[in-house]
Amino acid sequence: MVDDNMTLTKTNTAKVKAVEPDFDDEDTTPPIKPGKEREPLRARIEDFSFFYADGFQAIKNVDMPILDRKVTAIIGPSGCGKSTLLRSLNRMHDLYPGNRYEGRVILEPEGENLIGPESDPVIVRLRVGMVFQKPNPFPKTIYENVAAGLRVRGIKKRSMIDEAVENALRRAAIWDEVKDKLNGSAYDLSGGQQQRLCIARGLAPNPEILLLDEPTSALDPIATAKVEDLVQELSESVTIVIVTHNMQQAARVSHRTAFMYMGEMMEFGETQTIFTNPKHPRTENYITGRYG
Ligand code: ADP
Repeated sequence: MVDDNMTLTKTNTAKVKAVEPDFDDEDTTPPIKPGKEREPLRARIEDFSFFYADGFQAIKNVDMPILDRKVTAIIGPSGCGKSTLLRSLNRMHDLYPGNRYEGRVILEPEGENLIGPESDPVIVRLRVGMVFQKPNPFPKTIYENVAAGLRVRGIKKRSMIDEAVENALRRAAIWDEVKDKLNGSAYDLSGGQQQRLCIARGLAPNPEILLLDEPTSALDPIATAKVEDLVQELSESVTIVIVTHNMQQAARVSHRTAFMYMGEMMEFGETQTIFTNPKHPRTENYITGRYG
């Protein structure tokens, strides 16, 4: 308490010299590339780089397998490129002119390159759904929120939409809470319910991959626990990639973990190994809380 106050006073009244890290960050150990996976893959990220419109290279030659119907977590210090990589997987960056991809994101088993010129970004976004940090339902009814992606897919038959909406809401573990108010506004739901509704919206077009970008960072602990349980349940039927700054969350929900640092994939492996026996010194520094 006293220390906190003292620190506060000092920070407020004097220009404090930047704190030097207490460890050698001049590490030149090369990144540890992913090894061959024994389990079936849903996608392969190969020699992937990403450049923002201003020319900044946010992702540098990343290789990463995405296991079928498993949870892959992307962790790393703020600004290392986690969100940039995630948003590349469903062509989100195409919404802004001047951004550029290099390399390949191959969707299995067809072998389609999602970032290739032959892929339609609108279709890619249905095949690879996304849920954002802050729940962002549309200003529409609960029903219409979930039906939106189905309409984009060209499904018009009411009975088919009804069935798919119910199925998605059930899969997102929110059906029982909303089944009697499907025509009510999505904005009347709590934050945690809105996030599960957004998960239902992403699931409705039956995507092959669901991307979750820090999906619980705006939620309270109870809503967070519900979403974490849901992620584990869903991984039996859909492949999930989750960005999180919460290492306990990555350890709890994921099967594989990718550690990124300054746009590079430093280490990729089984989650348990990354958290108990990391091979790269930078991974160890991060998971032991030496930088964040
Ligand atoms: P993280 O999710 O790990 O916090 P981001 O993927 O958001 O990191 O950002 C990676 C890097 O890309 C950062 O250096 C960030 O400043 C930069 N960046 C993010 N958005 C843009 C943009 N629109 N234009 C240029 N640089 C950007």
